[in-house]
Amino acid sequence: MDTNRPKVSAPRILQALSCIIPVYNEAENLERFIPALMAECQKHSQQIELIVVDDGSRDQTVPILEALQEHFPINLLVFSRNFGKEAALTAGLAHVSNQASATLIIDADFQHPLNCITEFVTQWQAGYDMVYGVREHRQDRPLFLRLFSHLFYRLIDRITPIKIPHDAGDFRLLDAKVVVALNQLPERERFMKGLYAWVGFKTKAITYQPEERRHGQSSWGFGKLFELAITGIASFSSAPLRMWSVIGAIISSLSLLYAFGIVFDTLINGVDLPGYATITVAITFLGGIQLLSIGILGEYIARIFTEVKQRPPYIIARTLLSKNSEQI
Ligand code: UDP
Ligand code: MG
Repeated sequence: MDTNRPKVSAPRILQALSCIIPVYNEAENLERFIPALMAECQKHSQQIELIVVDDGSRDQTVPILEALQEHFPINLLVFSRNFGKEAALTAGLAHVSNQASATLIIDADFQHPLNCITEFVTQWQAGYDMVYGVREHRQDRPLFLRLFSHLFYRLIDRITPIKIPHDAGDFRLLDAKVVVALNQLPERERFMKGLYAWVGFKTKAITYQPEERRHGQSSWGFGKLFELAITGIASFSSAPLRMWSVIGAIISSLSLLYAFGIVFDTLINGVDLPGYATITVAITFLGGIQLLSIGILGEYIARIFTEVKQRPPYIIARTLLSKNSEQI
């Protein structure tokens, strides 16, 4: 039996829908994306708010959004610089109106198909608190990036108690109570995919085929992905720290056995000077292992450092609220 299944008899009503759209250099997409999104949302709710978070764009994104505010219920948050998508989503979530029955998170590059929204809303109405999109094939990324992300999910599955769904991104519809729960999490290093899984609730996956990016380039290279992967592991698991106790115990036991072996050998065969190769290998091997373990320890310390500094995850330079009277 599916224990995740909601026990709701009457369908929920989508009184008001909020959308969070993180944007970074999306000038070429927005003029078509915002009207298309709005048209789709209007099929499901009368009251809509679009929270667009400009993540330090260097192109015409902000002027275009200001012009779009004349026609659409856009609340625009302009960051003082590029803080990254996770920070943009955090800001968006913090600014969702408390009137909103549900909140949609969607990219501005048309990669998240707008026609999935109907299915998201249907499942939400059926009682699921978080409906998320799962990418069917990720052809838009190079093979090694896909391999890397596959390995990452396999690893995080094994070493953390929470289940982070594979290939699920930020494209999701959240019930109001999920938004409240996410806003309660105080951490500054935010690995959103992990946080969505951590808060729990009744969830439902919907598969979708990601579309081609209409304009511009994906801003996720290997470096950024690797950083995000390390943050994901370090914020949800202490297994990499504990691993060293096990490795240490194994190496100590082996060296003890070796020591006994040498003592017996000396007693039976007399004193013998072993070759320097054994010593060199032992020193370099243990030196390598120690540096690796210090490196991993460093990753955690760096994250503790970020948390204790208590800097906000983003700075909003300007807030341009919607002039639209139909706004929630
Ligand atoms: N984005 C952002 N800040 C960034 C990078 C991206 O707000 O530093 C936005 C971007 O404008 C888009 C969404 O996050 O709406 C997804 O970004 P992108 O398409 O580059 O990522 P991918 O689709 O490759 O995951
Ligand atoms: Mg994209």
